[in-house]
Amino acid sequence: MQDARIRLYVEQPLAPGQAVALSRDQAHYLFTVMRLGPGALVLLFNGRDGEWRARVAVAGKHGGVLTCDAQTRPLQAPPDLWLLFAPIKKARTDFIVEKAVEMGAARVMPVQTAHTSSDRIRQDRLQAHAVEAAEQCGGTFVPEVAELVALDRLLADWPADRRILWCDESLAGARSTVLAVEKGSPWAILTGPEGGFSDRERARLRAMPQVVPVSLGPRILRADTAAVAALTLWQAVLGDWA
Ligand code: SAH
Repeated sequence: MQDARIRLYVEQPLAPGQAVALSRDQAHYLFTVMRLGPGALVLLFNGRDGEWRARVAVAGKHGGVLTCDAQTRPLQAPPDLWLLFAPIKKARTDFIVEKAVEMGAARVMPVQTAHTSSDRIRQDRLQAHAVEAAEQCGGTFVPEVAELVALDRLLADWPADRRILWCDESLAGARSTVLAVEKGSPWAILTGPEGGFSDRERARLRAMPQVVPVSLGPRILRADTAAVAALTLWQAVLGDWA
């Protein structure tokens, strides 16, 4: 039996024998770009039901139907980690979203800080990037990309039990904080924009008991590098690498 290589995110429920109708774009991708025909195998995931092997039942120019066969992998949800980041230039913001999915963030939240230059994001585009990243990295979960929210507002009703790993550039060169806390509690990572955090933001973050300031080494990293470095640090110590 031919192996299924193509992974496709769909929104429908996945279960034995379940028929999955394809959108025009999905049909175009499978049947025109990838040249699959009836009987071909595809791997499907929807972020809830794990990964399923499905067979092409109907291949049309503008649509099609797949039929679910068997589950190939259960849902593997990432740890309860949110990535809060100040959006930067378009391509670098796309990069951060893609890396957050690959690294295993449960939620991606663009935040507007005092020195954030962009005051809007294309949430739908970023969400589509997250789906593509999950398709490509073998993930069975797609983190939600939230709408842009002001950091101040977000911190105003921040959950008492969710710690924030605050990447504080003023600590560059300081000995990195050891994350000596138990695994399994909810966390968020916070990285700033190219301009860094304002004095007001620093004072506010420092006053919050949930905040754990951290240094990412002796050099000042670009915002996109900082996001990946922080995700790596957290995953290695407290996440699903540890
Ligand atoms: N303009 C600032 C640097 C901002 S770097 C300055 O010159 O100080 C962008 C973001 O990456 C920072 O807000 C911080 O969240 C993170 N970052 C970069 N380097 C870091 C480091 N060595 N330690 C901790 N955080 C860092």
